[in-house]
This record gives sequence, structure tokens and C-alpha cells, in this order.
Amino acid sequence: MVEAVGVHKSYGGNLVVKGIDLTVRKGEVMCLLGPSGSGKSTFLRCINHLEKIDAGTIRVAGELVGYREHRGRLHELKDAEIAERRAGIGMVFQQFNLFPHMTVLQNLTEAPVLVRREKPAAARERAHELLARVGLSDKAGAYPRSLSGGQQQRVAIARALNMRPGLMLFDEPTSALDPELVGEVLDVMRDLAADGMTMIVVTHEIAFAREVADTVTFMDDGVVVESGPPAEVLGNPQHPRTQAFLAKVL
Ligand code: ADP
Ligand code: MG
Repeated sequence: MVEAVGVHKSYGGNLVVKGIDLTVRKGEVMCLLGPSGSGKSTFLRCINHLEKIDAGTIRVAGELVGYREHRGRLHELKDAEIAERRAGIGMVFQQFNLFPHMTVLQNLTEAPVLVRREKPAAARERAHELLARVGLSDKAGAYPRSLSGGQQQRVAIARALNMRPGLMLFDEPTSALDPELVGEVLDVMRDLAADGMTMIVVTHEIAFAREVADTVTFMDDGVVVESGPPAEVLGNPQHPRTQAFLAKVL
């Protein structure tokens, strides 16, 4: 579902992603760990067309990010094509970024109707199913400001899912939450993983990674230092930088 080869990204002259290779298969969950500033968010943003990479390639569902292949040639995507590709990838941020002037239901139906050109009734019907799934059936008419952080983040996940993405990217989805609200969001993500969604999750929740991830990838200073099953990377880390990081967060 995601294949990155030799991905480089710099801001100005500052190289922050320095040759990342990784593969996430359909239905797999990859947890991405690493210290602040190691390039995790930048890498996720590159997958989702929010940043343009300087070198290397990223494929999502076989398609080259940023390009369309036609008769053996590569054409840079136009804005409308980028929007279409991005519509197939759900992204959930640390700050929930809900539309504050819309109800929960409107938050969920806006993009499917405007971007996917779905019938409003169909988008609404699925929205209600998704709200039930994240435990917020009673909040369809509520405004984001009346919800707790955990509820807002669950709405943000449901909103992303209502685009019927083939891939979900999570960038520290529980880092802005009060500790007692973290569990309800992780429960939703666990449920999603069990349902077969392909996910890349940047997180500091080691217990979640150990339980849910198929692969744990540890990044530091713009490179993948170590990657493998949670039991190996978390239980028996080989690299000193992974060991030092885990000693701090565990
Ligand atoms: P992480 O998510 O692992 O904390 P980031 O990807 O956010 O790391 O950042 C990696 C590095 O890139 C940091 O040094 C950060 O300051 C820098 N950086 C991130 N975004 C930008 C930007 N838009 N412009 C310039 N520098 C950036
Ligand atoms: Mg980040």
C-alpha cells in the first residue's frame, strides 16, 4: 500500500528526511516512533502530497506520489489530480482541526459531497454509521467546541473514514489529549486496525504499538534506524539510538 524508496526532503538547505525506505502492506499497521524533530511528520506529509520530496519515490497503492504514469512517461500531477489522490488517504493530526462552524454531521459529510461528489443522503447515512462506530451517535448535531478533546479526535477519525480511504495516517493523534481521554481514541484506532485498515501511526504510545502494530519503525535524524515486529524493535532493540529512546519513554 505504501512503498518509500530513498526519500529525501529538505526545507531551505536543511535536509530533514535523509533517505527513507519503508514498505507497508495492505491491512498492516506501522507505528512510527522517534524523537521530536526526527522527520516523522514531514515523512507523513510527503505521503499525503502535503510536501514535495526532493529525491526518491513514494508509491501509494502502486501509484507514484506526485506523478501520473502514462504510456511509460511521468507527468506531474495537476492540483485537481492531487486533490483526488489525497482524497483516498485519511489523515488525523494532533490538533483535531474540525471545522468549528459546522456540526459534527456536517464535518463528516462536507468533503464526501464536495470532493467526491457523493449524494448528500448517502454521505449522511455513512456518517451516522461511523459516528455509531466511534461511540458518538448522540453527537451528530453538536458543535466541536461542545465536545471533549477525545470526542473531537474521534469525530476527526470518523470524518477521515467517511472519505472511504484506503490508507490512514495518524500524526500523534493522542498527544494533545488529557491522559484520561487517550484510551477512548486508541480504542477506536485498535478497532480500525482489527477491521483491516492500512495505517501508519506516529505515536509515543508504546503499549499501543506493542499490541497493535505489525511493524514498528524507529526513526532518528531523518533516517530509519531500526524496523521490525514490535517484539523485536521494542522488546530487543539492536541499535543504541533505539535503546536510548525507549529507555526515555518507557
Ligand atoms: P517530527 O515530526 O519527527 O518531530 P518534523 O518532521 O516535524 O519532525 O521536523 C523535522 C525537522 O524539519 C525539524 O528540524 C523541523 O524544525 C523541520 N521542519 C519541519 N517542517 C518545516 C517547515 N515547514 N519549514 C522548515 N523546517 C521544517
Ligand atoms: Mg511531528
